[in-house]
Amino acid sequence: MIIDTHIHLDDTRYDDDLEEVLQRAKKEGVSKFIIPGADPSTLQKAINISEAYDDVYFSVGVHPYDIESFDMINFEEYIQHPKCVAIGECGLDYYRLEGTEEEKENEKKKQQEIFIAQISIAKKFKKPLIIHIRDASVDSKRILEECNASEVGGVLHCFNADEQLLSLADNRFYFGIGGVLTFKNAKKLVNVLPKIPKEKLLIETDGPYLTPTPFRGKRNEPLYTKYVVNKMSELLDLPIEIIQNTTTKNALKLFNIY
Ligand SMILES: [Zn+2]
Ligand SMILES: [Zn+2]
Repeated sequence: MIIDTHIHLDDTRYDDDLEEVLQRAKKEGVSKFIIPGADPSTLQKAINISEAYDDVYFSVGVHPYDIESFDMINFEEYIQHPKCVAIGECGLDYYRLEGTEEEKENEKKKQQEIFIAQISIAKKFKKPLIIHIRDASVDSKRILEECNASEVGGVLHCFNADEQLLSLADNRFYFGIGGVLTFKNAKKLVNVLPKIPKEKLLIETDGPYLTPTPFRGKRNEPLYTKYVVNKMSELLDLPIEIIQNTTTKNALKLFNIY
């Protein structure tokens, strides 16, 4: 059994064959799916999918690329929903900052404000965080510590392999591993993987993006998590069943799914 802890099933690229995507995945043992909140305009669609399928859950949050729409969401309304398992994805992404130095600094400040706001919501409602970090490890770690985010914990989804974030493992934080692990140029992640405590590993697709080898370039889907699990089993020298059982147990615990 595998739990796909990060799959954007509300993306238009799944509109035509969502049913088949889920069926294919289930046949291969992918039994539960979490749709991370990102863009508020598709949140209702994520909720509809989680209501239509027993094994699909959602989280509510605003991705650092969508912070302008933060005020559009009435978090409380969604958090009460029985299928809402987390707050996020939220975090910091400095990869695509544009403009002058001053404009970049302003954008960073805004991202940090919205990240902090979502951490307080998570703490208020005792929900774990789904955290997105890109080119922003130092600020992200500082904010998580300053805001006592370890009260609720969470997952550093699509873990960027930055060793300075590893110490968060002691603090109720988990590490989401996806297709990147299978890439030829993933040396950093391959090297850091054994240093992550096994009880802190989660599996994710981040579909439709980051499709693992041998399907790179195609649309990603939960079925392909098996390539991530296989690679993890090979790198950690553990049987596939152990990887499946451990990561599933970890996911159920973090997201309070029974
Ligand atoms: Zn992300
Ligand atoms: Zn995502």
